[in-house]
Amino acid sequence: MAVVNCHACRKRYSSVQKRCPHCDADPATAPRHRKPVGAGPNTHLLLGMVAAIGGTGWYYSAVATGRDPTQAKLMIGLGLVWYIGARIWSAMRGRE
Ligand SMILES: [Zn+2]
Repeated sequence: MAVVNCHACRKRYSSVQKRCPHCDADPATAPRHRKPVGAGPNTHLLLGMVAAIGGTGWYYSAVATGRDPTQAKLMIGLGLVWYIGARIWSAMRGRE
């Protein structure tokens, strides 16, 4: 069982129900070419890349100045995970 968001009223309901219990919208009629709400995967690809590149620059400047680079490493890791996550997301919605 999964929880889905109604395409019409955006309320959440269980996917076992054939229609939205709030507004009676049929999920089969959901528009497939709806404009994405909020930031799309491309924005996150860019943010992840910026975080990884920024973290790399931070790492080298921390090493060069003798500071602890642990946080910079975490930022590189976060950026890479973010980037890969956005790539997967992008691939999943690629054929719209
Ligand atoms: Zn609804």
